[in-house]
Amino acid sequence: MLKENLQEVEKRITAACERAGRSRGEVTLVSVSKTKPVEMLREAYSLGVRVFGENKVQELTEKYDALPDDIRWHMIGHLQTNKVKYLIGKTELIHSVDSLKLAGVIEKESEKRGCVTDILIEVNVAQEESKFGLKMEEVIPFIKKAAQFPHINVRGLMTIAPFVENPEKNRTIFADLHKLYVDIKDKNIDNGTVNILSMGMTNDYEVAIEEGATMVRIGTGIFGARNYNI
Ligand SMILES: *Cc1c(COP(=O)(O)O)cnc(C)c1O
Repeated sequence: MLKENLQEVEKRITAACERAGRSRGEVTLVSVSKTKPVEMLREAYSLGVRVFGENKVQELTEKYDALPDDIRWHMIGHLQTNKVKYLIGKTELIHSVDSLKLAGVIEKESEKRGCVTDILIEVNVAQEESKFGLKMEEVIPFIKKAAQFPHINVRGLMTIAPFVENPEKNRTIFADLHKLYVDIKDKNIDNGTVNILSMGMTNDYEVAIEEGATMVRIGTGIFGARNYNI
């Protein structure tokens, strides 16, 4: 099943890139393995998957210890400041930075470990009450401040669009965030490190790619539905 799912996702990513006149190489697939057992990740690994996304620090670090070293781990879930110390040095990218306080703790822990941590800023484009993330107008001032942290690289923006039946409904959200992303790059306020736009999940990744996503986070479409009751 995993093999067919991966092929299907790959086919759809490629088709969306073609529709948008983009090359497949511009879009990174993050396989979101949260709640799934290590054996399933191992199977995905054997099929060539190297970029895995997790949303809990403990689950990520346990899987990190159990699986091969060449996996690139992405933290995509809400991150509490008291958990940062367990995570630093293990991620290729943290997608979910939503406060200066959190950025400050990542800076401090990264300095302690002598590493630089790549982060994205989570943006709540649709301003949903239930979601974390900065407002659009807060992003540029945030980047100006975060750019002063020597042990953090702001690599771009991330958003979780609302869950909608029809993914077309999220098109303007993706387009709006893409516009802000381009604006940040044009203004060069980030020391030139911004080149990632993480948006699009199983239900809406094709629309996100058409609107300029450089990274999509796909769980259900690859690993199947999640069971939170086990
Ligand atoms: C779970 C999750 C995903 C993947 O969601 P699917 O709909 O299963 O593809 C993507 N991004 C974030 C932040 C998530 O928490």
